[in-house]
Amino acid sequence: MRLLMDPVEEIKSRLPIEELVGQYRQLTKKGRNFVCLCPFHNDTHPSMVVSPDKGIAFCFACNTGGDIFSFYQSIEGVDFRQAIKDLAERTGVELPQALPVAKESKDEKERLRSCLEEALTFFRGQLTKSEKAKLYLHDRKIPAEQIEQFALGYAPDSFSATYEHLLKAGFSKSEIIKAGLGVQKDLKEGKIYDRFRNRLIFPIHDARGQLAGFGGRTLGEDDAKYINSSEGPLYNKSEILYGLHHAKEALREKKTVLMVEGYFDVLACHRVGIANVVAVSGTALTEKHVRMIKRSCETVTLCLDQDRAGKDAAERAFYLCNAAGLLVQSVRIPQKDPDEAANTAPELLRQLLTDGGVPYIVHVMEELREKGISSVAEKRDALRRLLPLINAVPSAVEQGGYVAEAALLLGTTETALREDMRSAEAPVKEPDAVPERQASEGAKVFSCAEIALGLFLLYPQHRLLLDQLIEPIDGFAAALYAALREIPADQKDVAVHALNLSDTDRERASILLLYCEQHEFGRWSDALALREIRNNCAHANQQLLKQKQREITQKLVQARSEGKRAEEENLSNQYYQLLKLAKISMEGIR
Ligand SMILES: [Zn+2]
Repeated sequence: MRLLMDPVEEIKSRLPIEELVGQYRQLTKKGRNFVCLCPFHNDTHPSMVVSPDKGIAFCFACNTGGDIFSFYQSIEGVDFRQAIKDLAERTGVELPQALPVAKESKDEKERLRSCLEEALTFFRGQLTKSEKAKLYLHDRKIPAEQIEQFALGYAPDSFSATYEHLLKAGFSKSEIIKAGLGVQKDLKEGKIYDRFRNRLIFPIHDARGQLAGFGGRTLGEDDAKYINSSEGPLYNKSEILYGLHHAKEALREKKTVLMVEGYFDVLACHRVGIANVVAVSGTALTEKHVRMIKRSCETVTLCLDQDRAGKDAAERAFYLCNAAGLLVQSVRIPQKDPDEAANTAPELLRQLLTDGGVPYIVHVMEELREKGISSVAEKRDALRRLLPLINAVPSAVEQGGYVAEAALLLGTTETALREDMRSAEAPVKEPDAVPERQASEGAKVFSCAEIALGLFLLYPQHRLLLDQLIEPIDGFAAALYAALREIPADQKDVAVHALNLSDTDRERASILLLYCEQHEFGRWSDALALREIRNNCAHANQQLLKQKQREITQKLVQARSEGKRAEEENLSNQYYQLLKLAKISMEGIR
């Protein structure tokens, strides 16, 4: 009897990765693999590696890709379910009606995602029942169509209504916590509180358009006006741009992204017909955000608040985006923010946003001019602000234009200004706002511990040395460590497909092997391999111990300031044990 194949495996066997990627990019043969220009970042030399034998296409420059499903999800901007449906149709694989792949998948992320989906349904239902929430939205002039489009909801004013609902729907306590919806205040007591209470709910989606978490605006007196889901397997704030999945088409078409400060600003822009808008959610802009933007845009237009925090955020965004080769524009509006503008002067807002503002440096010069630059001190301050900005502009022609304008503004000559710029060059590199230029190329894809584990996959004969690696705490590294541990000592073959891993972790393991292959780790002599494995384990241990030390130091400081003597003593004992361990593992390196 022939066993029925899992539809996911069936589709994979019918659609080789090189055939799928080849439909989007011209492939060139390189050794046993193919390479092509990466479709996910602004690639100039072929960075994407396509490995037919591993079934993986991955770009180690922007850290994007995976198996046929991941690749298809990223390039088409669809979720896993849609990818399966599309690719099943393409390959003529018949799917079971209930789509068990997504629903009963053991994959943790899929479970957590259904937990979020269930919570969203609950929040949306609660909104229809809450007069207070409806009144609030009415006061903020949010029309019914937007409530629908952005799937707004309401988390009731109760300690555990959401939690109870999710339990009834079949999710476990730990799933609810991991999905970022429940908070365990006291480990001993075990009681779970809802993270979102009496808050208007904004669902937040990741770059693939999948639900990743929530933002909540308090409708009460809570000190924290806004809170977000806690970081977890699905919600990673440095990779979340609110509104991105509503903006995708407009971004591709306009090649420009408008960046605003909050959820209500995103909604406001949509109300005046501007759809290419996003907001960072609960954090400052990061390099990861910028890389996401670069996939479809050439220009970033900032429309942030005019307060101190907004100005700092704009400056940071300028340095990050500029370093990534994006053009940075700035729009000034007379109102506090786009939300207020959309309600008081919608036509003006539409016009200003459509016009697209002025280059960010010009905006700064306008600001300085308005503040007045006459005294020596004012000129010095203005110079201090402008020089690093102008220095950061990569194009000499563009830079020349700004130098001329700035000289005029400061009442000096271009030659004198250029002189100052040269002497300003050194300090410009030190402020933390200036990102590392190579960061996007050298993006660290795998941790030391993961690379050590990759070496065990390549040289399974040495896996007794696994004892030298401190067991990773969570995530992919922990799963791979456990899977390697499970293999009987006499088993020779350690193929990725035979390891006891979830689908996601198995894919990650294939990417790890591809990484090792790209760096030619597999060609070492036995002696060299042994030495490298030892080194990598020691480095991974060092990293882990350092992180632990930092955590304990923080707790120690807190215990001390709160006068908790017993806890303080306990923590400092732990600290000394860690120091000892760190010393032993250092000896391993030599
Ligand atoms: Zn890439």
